Amino acid sequence: MFEHLHALPADPILNLMVQYRQDNNPLKVDLGVGVYKDEQGHTAIMQAVTAAETHLLATETTKTYIGPAGAEGFNYHISRLLLGNEHSALKDKRITVAQTPGGCGALRMAAEFLAKCAPDTTVWVSDPTWANHIPLLKGARLNVTEYPYYDGATKAIRFDAMCSTLESANAGDVVLLHGCCHNPCGADLSTDQWDIIAELLVRKGLIPFVDIAYQGLGDGLDEDAYGVRLLADKAPEMLIASSCSKNFGLYRERTGSVMIIAPNQQQAAVTASNLFSIIRSHYSMPPAHGAAIVETILSNTELTKSWGDELAVMRNRILQLRHQLANDIAATGCTQDFSFIPQQKGMFSFLGINKDQVGRLRDEYSIYMVDSSRINIAGLSSHNLNYVAQSLSNVLKG
Ligand code: PMP
Repeated sequence: MFEHLHALPADPILNLMVQYRQDNNPLKVDLGVGVYKDEQGHTAIMQAVTAAETHLLATETTKTYIGPAGAEGFNYHISRLLLGNEHSALKDKRITVAQTPGGCGALRMAAEFLAKCAPDTTVWVSDPTWANHIPLLKGARLNVTEYPYYDGATKAIRFDAMCSTLESANAGDVVLLHGCCHNPCGADLSTDQWDIIAELLVRKGLIPFVDIAYQGLGDGLDEDAYGVRLLADKAPEMLIASSCSKNFGLYRERTGSVMIIAPNQQQAAVTASNLFSIIRSHYSMPPAHGAAIVETILSNTELTKSWGDELAVMRNRILQLRHQLANDIAATGCTQDFSFIPQQKGMFSFLGINKDQVGRLRDEYSIYMVDSSRINIAGLSSHNLNYVAQSLSNVLKG
């Protein structure tokens, strides 16, 4: 039966990684893959993570099964990190939390949950959105449709178009929103815009589904959670997918969580039993190690502070690189305006150049990015900023 399959094209980002590795140019720059890098271009293990791992190694006594919901302590702390300690959804016990294999696991379990509630559910996603959102949602057989979001010409959110499109959605439709640090465009809703979207969603009976994979890498841990906390306050039903890949640097440990908020405690118990049964039929239970690290950090004041400080260093580095890139491009005499870059948040922005120009940067200058011109800001450093700015300016001159 295997002969019925056709080979699929390689993932463009993975392809780019291979090309980059094979490039011998000492000046090569990787702005493709979405991982945080330090000034040396290294994705280091955070000190708080190493300390937590050392502690775990010394104290862990069993590797027995933990169950579909994962570790209770992790779920307790991660839901408070996201919603704040005093959130009413937590106090009223309306929330079901499950530790998942990364943000992807959370997104897929949330999607499967929606499919179980109503198989023909429509999920609205931003145009553009993170490339993997669509396969994760469609894999659960949901209908996926887009609302306007980023305007490549003005480099801003098409907020009026976004609102008027969502006004046309049907009650019971689900709206997927990026909690902060939009991937791929870096343009985030302002607090005023979140307020308007929350009112619209609640009034129309639309169900918010927030994907938050970069909490703490935009403006700060609490600031980045403004939208998700607001919606959790206002909407009777809601889904959240969160990831510890970026803000704890736990990428390969596959650590995330899915949270589902129900209108009341009774409904929450029904939600929990269904979510756990879905998890059981997919991967049974999540891997323990990454979540144990996060739990160790968040249950210890000193480690929490050390982690928060390291995260602030990462956040400030990204912000500084955003300013430096815009300044360095302007200093080359480039006539195109890149002042939007420091206005945007998180690891990604579109340079806004075309596919041919992306190709020239790759072929002539060994600067690698995906065809859409999305760059990983953290791939920049003082070693390559001038080179990137000058090369871009050269390509734009034609
Ligand atoms: N959502 C978004 C928007 C992301 O960018 C990512 C990671 N690239 C994820 C979710 C999930 O990440 P992971 O599964 O690695 O935790």
